[in-house]
Amino acid sequence: PRGLVWLRRDLRLTDNAALYHALRSCRSVFAVFVFDTDILDGLPRADRRVEFIHACLAELDAELRRHGGGLIVRHAAAREEIARLAKALDVQAVFANRDDEPLAIERDRQVRGALADAGAVLQLHKDRAIFEREEVLTQAGQPYSVFTPYKRAWLAKVDDFYLKPYPVERYLDALAAPPEEFDAPLPSLSELGFEPTNLAELDLPAGASGGARLFEEFFDKHIDRYDELRDFPAKRGPSYLSVHLRFGTVSIRELAGVAHRLALSGNSGAATWLGELIWRDFYFQVLWHHPEVAEGKSFRPEYDKIIWHKGKHANALFAAWCAGETGYPLVDAAMAQINQTGYMHNRLRMVVASFLCKDLGLDWRRGEAYFATHLNDFELSSNNGGWQWASSSGCDAQPWFRIFNPVTQSQRFDPEGKFIRRYLPQLEGLPDTVIHAPWTASPVELEAAGLVLGRDYPEPIVDHAQAREQTLQRYAVVKDLK
Ligand code: FAD
Repeated sequence: PRGLVWLRRDLRLTDNAALYHALRSCRSVFAVFVFDTDILDGLPRADRRVEFIHACLAELDAELRRHGGGLIVRHAAAREEIARLAKALDVQAVFANRDDEPLAIERDRQVRGALADAGAVLQLHKDRAIFEREEVLTQAGQPYSVFTPYKRAWLAKVDDFYLKPYPVERYLDALAAPPEEFDAPLPSLSELGFEPTNLAELDLPAGASGGARLFEEFFDKHIDRYDELRDFPAKRGPSYLSVHLRFGTVSIRELAGVAHRLALSGNSGAATWLGELIWRDFYFQVLWHHPEVAEGKSFRPEYDKIIWHKGKHANALFAAWCAGETGYPLVDAAMAQINQTGYMHNRLRMVVASFLCKDLGLDWRRGEAYFATHLNDFELSSNNGGWQWASSSGCDAQPWFRIFNPVTQSQRFDPEGKFIRRYLPQLEGLPDTVIHAPWTASPVELEAAGLVLGRDYPEPIVDHAQAREQTLQRYAVVKDLK
């Protein structure tokens, strides 16, 4: 039989479940990636993710060609194009890796139907998670809604069977080169309707080679101290692998396998890092069991009774948050980081998310949408989980009465203001004691730093103490409704 592997968010050849199953069960296997107009049409015209994918595909195609294959690239609506292509290539089966985002499930349902009309089947495989869907349930057979017991059950279940890689390289002989009519060069970014971004200037290597580089660097130099450094945005604590996990240019089995082995040998950095990968699986299964969270609903319905700040003033506050002009340096530096690079450090995601809902009184969904547009690593499940954690409406979330103080967070996690100075050079000259709250600087300090508040850097747009009181009142409905 002939097969087609449809690559989506799994842009690598090694340890790829769908590719492995295709190669094992078919005599000749074609490979396709679809720039799906259903997705691309809704994106900004300059989007680092499209450029990142584009760079990954160039590498993937070269790799496939080295092994006698080649990547067919289409620019169309995948829900129609896959069946059209399957028919033209005369394949009996299409293999892909599972994606449980609601729109992906719907797309795959349509593809499956169209394929059936063409006499072919769609086979989906688990690849993006170690455990998904119903694989980790409570003793009573219910999904977990608290992370710690979920993690315990995850760790009790995991073993070599779940972590071992698929030996794709042994079966690459079955790869088939694209027939001439489909053997077009990779369309350029502008042919796809996109403009270049600053991706090339960022230290973000693309493709499976980029993923491997970051992975090696992290395991060689940083994982041992992950637990100690991960909360300090000025330090190289985390792995920066999220975008590679998002697009599958690294294998979760490989990452979790190495971290698990190191954790078992007593490496506490690796154990903490593995815990983060487990959070990722946790949020995947939250979305699977509660798809309503993707429709703007709070995980805890009583939180939908909260009345958020709306109207002109709220819109102005939101615009200031997006632009990094709140007057709170850690928040503004974090927003500059996402705006300039598409990445934001995890500690800062928590700080700016809390600031949006609990200092500005704005609906968390506005922040969620902003992140969804700007994060290179945007993952519906983790992003929604993170926002609902910060707004307290989520599964195993921050309690509603706990409100981050943006100044003390700054003093604790960026004590020397290094991160702030990197992104807000106008504050460079302020002493460390006041850089976290420039409005507390004396006239002499401001003058020495050459800084005029309100001209070079904004005055704070809200007073944290007042905002805190308002938030406690706003959230009180939750207590009454329980
Ligand atoms: P590392 O610290 O090296 O962690 C390794 C991997 O573990 C990450 O790449 C990620 O896949 C996973 N991970 C780490 N923390 C979490 C977490 N809290 N939840 C789920 N998975 C986690 N992560 C995304 O991948 N996409 C998102 O869209 C996203 N949005 C977020 C929004 C908010 C408001 C918050 C608070 C967190 C969000 N996160 C998201 C989680 C986390 O911030 C990022 O995964 C992390 O900062 C990515 O950097 P890293 O790869 O260097 O992380």
